[in-house]
Amino acid sequence: MDVATFMTLAMAHRHSGYYTTRDPLGRAGDFITAPEISQMFGELAGAAIAQAWIDLGAPASVHLVELGPGRGTLMADALRATRNLAGFHAAIRLHLVETSPVLRELQGERIRHPSRHWHEHVESLPDDAPILFIANELFDVLPVRQFVMAGDGLHERRIGVDDDDRLGFVLDPRCSRPGESDGMAEGSILEVSPAREALMTGLARRLAHQRGTGFIIDYGDLDLDGADTLQAVRAHRRVAPLDTPGKADLSSHVAFRPLLDAARREGVMAFGPLTQGEWLRRIGIETRMQRLAAGGAGGGAGGGDDDGLRARLLGEMQRLVADDQMGTLFKVVAVTTHAGPPAGFSGKERWS
Ligand code: SAH
Repeated sequence: MDVATFMTLAMAHRHSGYYTTRDPLGRAGDFITAPEISQMFGELAGAAIAQAWIDLGAPASVHLVELGPGRGTLMADALRATRNLAGFHAAIRLHLVETSPVLRELQGERIRHPSRHWHEHVESLPDDAPILFIANELFDVLPVRQFVMAGDGLHERRIGVDDDDRLGFVLDPRCSRPGESDGMAEGSILEVSPAREALMTGLARRLAHQRGTGFIIDYGDLDLDGADTLQAVRAHRRVAPLDTPGKADLSSHVAFRPLLDAARREGVMAFGPLTQGEWLRRIGIETRMQRLAAGGAGGGAGGGDDDGLRARLLGEMQRLVADDQMGTLFKVVAVTTHAGPPAGFSGKERWS
């Protein structure tokens, strides 16, 4: 089978898929994400989304969509941070696009907005109002196919079973994707993701019809430059991707160029990729950190002395923005129908 089929089965199989069977997040799980590291992430994302609502002219009704909400932490923090913005919460119709029954349950406990509604796919989202969407670490789990530059051109990397019943990679002897191997070094890899592009196209098409803004945050880069980025993570450690299907998180770096191009094709404006560190600094993470450290704005620090609190918040901020942590590996892309750039972006980052 191709790598995409393997990823789909390992992640989403109805009985034994990784996301079907567990909550993978947090210290006790397999990996940790930005909203789980710090409340500041969801709060600032909420502020960026609220700005996009204002840019739309503060409509009386707006569909706020999160794709792959995990434990619901980002949305809970975003809603709390924006509760004092007049009219915003009353305007929101909340939609959570989530395939995992385990995580839907957790999201239900955390996200208390009265209009919340779950969806299996973006296709069932309503089309009668503008859309604001956010997706953090969703695109990286959507499946990719891999093609290896070998001899006469690109050959698809497939997964087979050897004589000892072990899974292993094999190259399809047929040459595929003619014409796309120009300039590629022997052994380098082309990763393509029809699933990611289709999702981006669907979202951008909705924006074009309904108006709105969306933010996509994930690890990756504009181009992946021939690297094999398929990875499996279990209990915060890298493991071999084929060793424990359904028991490790499988993902790959997001190539943002095809997503930005897909958005432009649908006629919406695209911005980025900007590093997560730069984006968070521009939308005010330092100010937010100082404010929480001073004990204001619903910090809810749960005791502890001021110095301890400040040190904890500083540590969280560093994890999100520092170059040697998540700050440059993670990127932010925005798509919008608004005339000006979304929160954190400038005209310089406009994709054309
Ligand atoms: N955004 C969260 C969780 C990231 S993990 C955070 O930042 O903490 C990936 C999330 O996407 C999980 O909630 C997972 O169940 C969900 N997911 C995986 N495949 C999906 C798909 N095809 N459609 C919608 N959600 C999916």
